[in-house]
Amino acid sequence: NLSEKLDKALHVLKGHGQITEINVAETLKEVRRALLDADVNFKIAKEFTNKVKEKALGQDVLTSLQPGQLMVKLVKDELTELMGGDAEGINLSGTPSVILMSGLQGSGKTTFSGKLANYLKTKKTKKPLLVACDVYRPAAIDQLHVVGEQIGVEVFSDRGNNDPVAISKAGIAHAKANGFNVVIIDTAGRLAVDEQMMNEIANIHKAIQPQETLFVVDSMTGQDAVNTAKSFNDVLNFDGVILTKLDGDTRGGAAISIKSVVNKPIKFIGTGEKMDAIDVFYPSRMAERILGMGDVVSLVERAQEQFDEEEARKIQKKIAKNKFGFDDFLSQIQQIKKMGSLKDLMGMIPGAGKALKGLDIDDDAFKHIEAIIHSMTPDERSTPAKLNASRKKRIAKGSGTSIQEINQLLKQFDQMSKMMKMMQGGGGKKMMQMMGA
Ligand code: GDP
Ligand code: MG
Repeated sequence: NLSEKLDKALHVLKGHGQITEINVAETLKEVRRALLDADVNFKIAKEFTNKVKEKALGQDVLTSLQPGQLMVKLVKDELTELMGGDAEGINLSGTPSVILMSGLQGSGKTTFSGKLANYLKTKKTKKPLLVACDVYRPAAIDQLHVVGEQIGVEVFSDRGNNDPVAISKAGIAHAKANGFNVVIIDTAGRLAVDEQMMNEIANIHKAIQPQETLFVVDSMTGQDAVNTAKSFNDVLNFDGVILTKLDGDTRGGAAISIKSVVNKPIKFIGTGEKMDAIDVFYPSRMAERILGMGDVVSLVERAQEQFDEEEARKIQKKIAKNKFGFDDFLSQIQQIKKMGSLKDLMGMIPGAGKALKGLDIDDDAFKHIEAIIHSMTPDERSTPAKLNASRKKRIAKGSGTSIQEINQLLKQFDQMSKMMKMMQGGGGKKMMQMMGA
C-alpha cells in the first residue's frame, strides 16, 4: 500500500542522508497527480500539496528516522483535515426534527431517505416518518413507498396534490399528531441545476425550516459534484453533505473538493443500493481510502523509480571519478538488506538489473563481505589497490574470514567496478558480451 511504498521510497534515501527539498517536492508532485486522478479539484490539490510540503520541510522530515512514514502521516492528516477532521452527526433536536433532502435527480435522495430512516430507527431508537414530495413522477412516490415497506417505516404522501410545500407541511403535521419524532422529506431533483428546481427547494426550505438540510450527491459525478454543491449551498445554506455511490472503486476526490468549496461537513456516505448500505462519514477513513487507491499506489511506484534514478546517478558520478570504493559498496549492501535483495540494488543501476537477472545472488554472502569491509581501514576502503598480502592477512584475522574470501571479494568488487564503468560509458552492449549474453 501507499504507506509502505512511500516509506520504502524515502527510507532508501535516508540511508544516504539525501532527502532533500527536491525529493519532497518530487513526491508531492506525484501525490498531487494522484489527487487529480481521484477527481480532486486542481486548485485544492495544489494548495494541499503546498501545505504538506511546508509541514514536511518544517517538521524535520529530513532528519527523521523514518521520513517515509512521517510523510505518509502528514499526507493522511492533511487529507483528513481537508475533509473535515472529526465525524459530524445530524441535528435531531426538534420535536419532530425535520430533515430535508436536496440534490439532483438520480443522486440518491430517495434511497438515502430510506437508509437514514432505517439507520435512525435501528441505531438511535427514533420513530421516523418519510414524506414524499417528488410530485413530478408518480413512480417517485411509489418508490418511496416500496422503500418504506422494506424497512417498516411509514410513508406520508398525497397523490392528488402537486404542491410540495403543502405536502411537506401536511407531513410534519401528520408526524406531530402521530408520535413521529423525525420527519425525512424526500424531494424532486432535476438532471441539472435550474431555476425551477432551486426555487422549489428554496420554498420548501423556507416554509418548513428544517433542523437539518442535507445535500445528496453522487460521488461518481466527480468535478460536477462540486459545482452542484455550490449552487445548492448558495440557495439553501445546507448543513451537511451525503456522498452516495461510494461503493466499488469510486474515486473519493469529490469528498475532498466539496468540503473545501462549500465548507460543510460530509455526514454520511452511501455504499450500495440496499437499505443498510449507509455509513457515518469518517474523514480519516476516507483519507485512507484515497491513499489506498490504485492510482496512488502506482504514483508512489513512479516516485520510487525517480528516487532510484537519482541514487543511480550519484553512484555513477562516483564511478566516473573513480571514487567508488568499499565504503560505497558497504552502504549499498546495507541498503540492499533494507530493501530485500541484491537484485533490487542492481536494478537501481540502469541496465544492470536486466543483465543480472539470470544470476543467482546469495544474500547470505553479505555477512562475510560486511565483516571483511568492516575490518578494513578507511584508506583501504577507498583505495582497494593498497591491499597487499600482509594487510589481507590482518583483515582475514579481524573479520574471521580467510585470505581466499578476501581475494574473492576483491575480484567481485573489481568486476563490479568495471561493469559499472562500462555502463557509465554507454557500453551496455560490451558488458552484455562480457557476460556471455
Ligand atoms: P434520487 O433521484 O435522488 O431520489 O435517486 P434514487 O434514490 O432514486 O437513486 C438513483 C439510483 O442510484 C437508484 O438506482 C439507486 O438504487 C442508486 N443508488 C442510490 N444510492 C446508491 C449507493 O450508495 N450505491 C449505489 N451503488 N447505488 C445507489
Ligand atoms: Mg427520488
